[in-house]
Amino acid sequence: MKKRSSTLVLSTSTKNYIISLFAIIIIIISAIAIFVTYLSSYVKDIKQEKIALENQIKQKEEFYEALEDKIEDVKYLLGMDAQEEFSQNISAMLNSITPTQKRIILNSIPNGYPSFARKITSGFGNRFHPIYKRVKFHHGIDFGGKVGTPIMATAEGIVEFAGYDKGYGYLVVIDHNFGFKTAYGHMLKNLKVKEGDFVKKGEVIGFLGNSGISTGPHLHYEVKFIRRVLDPKNFINWSILNFDEIFYKEKRVAWNSLTKAIMNQYDKLNQLSLK
Ligand SMILES: [Zn+2]
Repeated sequence: MKKRSSTLVLSTSTKNYIISLFAIIIIIISAIAIFVTYLSSYVKDIKQEKIALENQIKQKEEFYEALEDKIEDVKYLLGMDAQEEFSQNISAMLNSITPTQKRIILNSIPNGYPSFARKITSGFGNRFHPIYKRVKFHHGIDFGGKVGTPIMATAEGIVEFAGYDKGYGYLVVIDHNFGFKTAYGHMLKNLKVKEGDFVKKGEVIGFLGNSGISTGPHLHYEVKFIRRVLDPKNFINWSILNFDEIFYKEKRVAWNSLTKAIMNQYDKLNQLSLK
């Protein structure tokens, strides 16, 4: 009996202890609950703010993209205005140039088709963009074709870029002689060249694909002179057979100074061979 009452006494103090412990735990739990509720509402606010900001950024990006397109249009028009006078120098150069020299020029400046996929699915200039759903300046020519069709360099040069570039997908940019550049977009991942490589005209640089912002397998091909985007059409149709034509057709290339550069190189070569 005595033993029992002593346990009872002990139980009462333990009871009090347990009650206060419970009270403390409940206070802590409610404090945590309040804090978590506050934190989650705070996170929710931040998330909403983030979404609003993202929308704002997207709108701004679209605005700037449209503005960039307009700038490109203006640049293109300015280039058209800044047409160089077709000088006597060029006709003199065309008259004096030998077939071998023509072949050397055709090796250095982009010409011919970049692949056997030759069906033009979208030309150069303003067009309604199928993905952006608005008029956008198309900086190149699109060739539809089978995935895996080899893509070749249209002139010799140094690979300036070989990798993934947002809208272009897998892209290769080649820096050629005399200020020309070509770009090949939407290729397959297994590019055959890397930055800094020297490529010969006709060398396979990669394969036709559907990477980046693209509605189907095609090659996007660009030709640039200094920072001007050119219509690749004139360059695609350029060969030894119609060598002179491009000098009259493509007015956005500074053929005057280019002529000087080319002749200067030949003079140097001649001097070297005479020594
Ligand atoms: Zn394109």
